[in-house]
Amino acid sequence: MSKNYRIKTSCPQCGCSGATHLSEKELKERYGDLPNIELECHECMMVMEAEVEEDLSKE
Ligand SMILES: [Zn+2]
Repeated sequence: MSKNYRIKTSCPQCGCSGATHLSEKELKERYGDLPNIELECHECMMVMEAEVEEDLSKE
């Protein structure tokens, strides 16, 4: 069983927010094992720290 994660972003500069869902495999492929993930805001390109939490909802 692989876990799923929800990555939440909230840009302090322009105020936009979003959430991305990734499987454990996708998360590691993109970000490695880093505990902190930094993403670029797609609106203003500011680099911000994203919040990663385990997605416990079943689909
Ligand atoms: Zn922004």
